Amino acid sequence: MDYHIVPVEEAARLLGTTPAGLATPTARQRLIEHGPNQLADAHRKTIGQLVLHQLLDVMILVLLAAAGVSGLMGEWKSVYVILAIVVVNAVIGFLQEYRAEKAMEALQKMAASQAQVLRDGQAAKVAAADLVPGDMVLLEAGNIIPADLRFIETHALKVDESSLTGESTNVEKDPAPLPAGDYPLGDRLNLGFKGTFVTNGRATAYVVGTGMHTELGRIATLIQTAETSTPLQKRLATLGKRLAVAALVVGALFFAVGWLRGEPLRELLLVSISLAIAALPEALPALVTISLALGAKRLVDSHALIRKLPAVETLGSVTYICTDKTGTLTLNKMTVEEVFEVPDFRLPVLEDGHGLLTAMALNTDATQDDQGQWLGDSTEVALARYAAEQEHSRAALEARFPRLAELPFDSERKCMSTLHQTPQGVLVVTKGAVGSLFAQLDTSQQAGIPDLKRRVDALAGQGHRVLGYAARLLPELPAEITSATIETGLVFVGFAGLLDPPRPEARQAVAECKAAGITAVMITGDHQLTARAVAESLGIITSGEDLVLTGKELTQLDEPAFAELVEQVRVYARVDPAQKLRIVSALQSRHQFVAMTGDGVNDAPALKNADIGIAMGINGTEVSKEAAHMILLDDDFATIVEAVRHGRRIYGNILKFIRYIMAGSAGEICTLFFAPLFGLPIPLLAIHILWINLITDGLPGLALAYEPSEPNSMKRPPIDPKQTIFADGLGWFIVWVGLLVGGVTIGMQAWAIHGAGTHWQTMTFSVLCFSQLGLAFTVRSRHESAFRIGLFANKPMLGALTLTFGLQLLIIYVPFFNDLFRTEPLTWPELGLTLAVSSVVFWAVEAHKLVSRLREPASVSSAPVPPAPTPATPPARAGEPAQQPTNRPTKPISEPLLQP
Ligand code: ADP
Ligand code: MG
Repeated sequence: MDYHIVPVEEAARLLGTTPAGLATPTARQRLIEHGPNQLADAHRKTIGQLVLHQLLDVMILVLLAAAGVSGLMGEWKSVYVILAIVVVNAVIGFLQEYRAEKAMEALQKMAASQAQVLRDGQAAKVAAADLVPGDMVLLEAGNIIPADLRFIETHALKVDESSLTGESTNVEKDPAPLPAGDYPLGDRLNLGFKGTFVTNGRATAYVVGTGMHTELGRIATLIQTAETSTPLQKRLATLGKRLAVAALVVGALFFAVGWLRGEPLRELLLVSISLAIAALPEALPALVTISLALGAKRLVDSHALIRKLPAVETLGSVTYICTDKTGTLTLNKMTVEEVFEVPDFRLPVLEDGHGLLTAMALNTDATQDDQGQWLGDSTEVALARYAAEQEHSRAALEARFPRLAELPFDSERKCMSTLHQTPQGVLVVTKGAVGSLFAQLDTSQQAGIPDLKRRVDALAGQGHRVLGYAARLLPELPAEITSATIETGLVFVGFAGLLDPPRPEARQAVAECKAAGITAVMITGDHQLTARAVAESLGIITSGEDLVLTGKELTQLDEPAFAELVEQVRVYARVDPAQKLRIVSALQSRHQFVAMTGDGVNDAPALKNADIGIAMGINGTEVSKEAAHMILLDDDFATIVEAVRHGRRIYGNILKFIRYIMAGSAGEICTLFFAPLFGLPIPLLAIHILWINLITDGLPGLALAYEPSEPNSMKRPPIDPKQTIFADGLGWFIVWVGLLVGGVTIGMQAWAIHGAGTHWQTMTFSVLCFSQLGLAFTVRSRHESAFRIGLFANKPMLGALTLTFGLQLLIIYVPFFNDLFRTEPLTWPELGLTLAVSSVVFWAVEAHKLVSRLREPASVSSAPVPPAPTPATPPARAGEPAQQPTNRPTKPISEPLLQP
């Protein structure tokens, strides 16, 4: 249907709707008919697909092959055991993946956008997915257009359709029907398209198409968004491929050597396959996804909603947090603390003595509801309430001087104006940043400016947001209402100073950032003196080296000059949202890892380009949320810091998991490979290897994901995102722990064979199993002693270790399992000896940690907080020397540049 060529009334008739919107039952009925207003998601996995995914796993296929080989050789018991292991392994894998999938789904629901509609004639908020054709929606600047729409009424409506048409200039929309003809999308001026967004103005519109029946849906069938994997996942995938080849080589080599030595072929073949399985790190990439998804779920409890999964991983690498001031560092609860009125002010309508209060009551967007509650922007509310308390209410004054027109606030002009009818003519009242007003004052007013400026600066220096009022009388309403026609030749009326108290938890969070090697930077549209005062009270500025840069100064700097000093800037004042992008790029050019907050439409590019873009859940526009990687549900700065802590924990736990699994596999490989070289028989049966690798190894490994934050995790510098996983001694750890596990196990085997000689295989098998349990216990911390972090901090780990230990005892002592696994019950002394020998690995790793703690005490255990003024040392990127901030020439900006 071509809704753009019919009049609005005709469109309404065709859609079976009215300007009062649909009735709720009709909407419900239509939702069933048309389906949800969503694009089909090709990536959501069904339960069947999840199960299939588990079964198609390479490792499972190899296992099934092993079962087949056993079956051919008539080893039915082995077949059953292998199949049982396959099932248990697949169930664990499935449950984990299912939980992760559910967690992500829940998060997506929380992040889903909403739409403002009229239903039964009442304004209501509904999930955008629940919109149906015929719904009447209300739009305002910052909204994403939720479905294809036919406009009913528009007010200065401008829409960014670049995502759909590629056209970068914003399109001005108009409800008038178009003459019949062919129009490309970009020319259908009375239609709005799903996925584009409102940059300006307001509108009402009927929904004409939803879900896949929208222009966006038509494209979406062609290009389904690809799943993105995180940097770590990509690296692990590459590593995994190499290790898979290595595993095959190891297996083949083992088989060849055994064959030359004349080992029995059947058993040799099975053990070779098992060995290859032990060396395959197949589960790694999947485990990373699961850890990230479960981490994202935990983050919601801390009020950080993850929109893009890789953000969980990269949060731990943040070196700069650039944050808005108002509402994020402060409470956004403004109160008028001081007012000043120009004493000899004269303008006929703003009667003597009350000019300022009259201006305050007239120039405001704040409204009161039936209960007398104030609604609107906190600055607006504070000013209007103050005037009302002094007997100058908006309602009463607007009754006398009706509003004719207005020029809304924008953060680039930093002021707003209202026009009112008075007996003497049209009154213009302008309110805004005092600096912006000074530039527009009448020439007769210039003499008073220095005195006013002194007063304003004194207030701003105490952290007040100062808003000035100016006015003028026009003979009649100008034909065109623009800043140039009305915001000139003004007469200054007075100003008000507002205070917005800092959030109590913000100061603590800033200090935490410093300790964690992260620099907190404040970005605000406020005056530099106001900003500086607030920054000092929060601890963002602590020394003379910390710079305050204004938007004007920023425009004067070219890229190299800005990059030169960007790392010293702690406060950006009087900046436009557009400049945020420059700040992000400059920091990134200095190899910083930047988190940036934003709430407006203009912030979207900066949010997209930041390493972590953070939108405000309460005060943010939909466009900013869509562009962000993470949404702050409580708009609180402290939540960002909390999220970073979680990011570091999650990343750290993934590394611990890799350490554990790879060192464990190395141990199994060493055992099997070296035993024959010492003239010993192959120490283990294939099922023993599978059992250790998939069950006793796997459960404690999974439990590592639940490891809580290490106490010093926020006292260390950030994780370098480019650092290889083998940094921090991982490669060396795998080698020496692998050799040790192998050595201990082979030692046990040799001793047992030459001693009693009866239970040697059960003892060898158990030593290998118990060694890994000890390893799981100790890898929980990279540096801290396992006793210090305690076992009870991680209940799933406690459960996994107990369960695994219990299972191993079952295999040793229950006749049924003795039969299946060909084990023999150990005597008490034998069990004791086995446990003692197994603990060697645990003690060795603990000793290694102790030595490294003694050797470099500062970088490990609870290091003292680094001195505040020193800028954080950014982690060195691969192939580059670490930057030494202290060696860089500091180039202080001269004072005059700081003042306008
Ligand atoms: P922030 O980045 O702290 O949110 P804004 O961009 O909202 O700052 O505001 C920047 C400046 O614009 C303020 O310092 C103030 O001078 C002016 N301003 C803010 N709100 C209003 C308003 N409602 N009316 C007029 N001027 C305003
Ligand atoms: Mg603001």
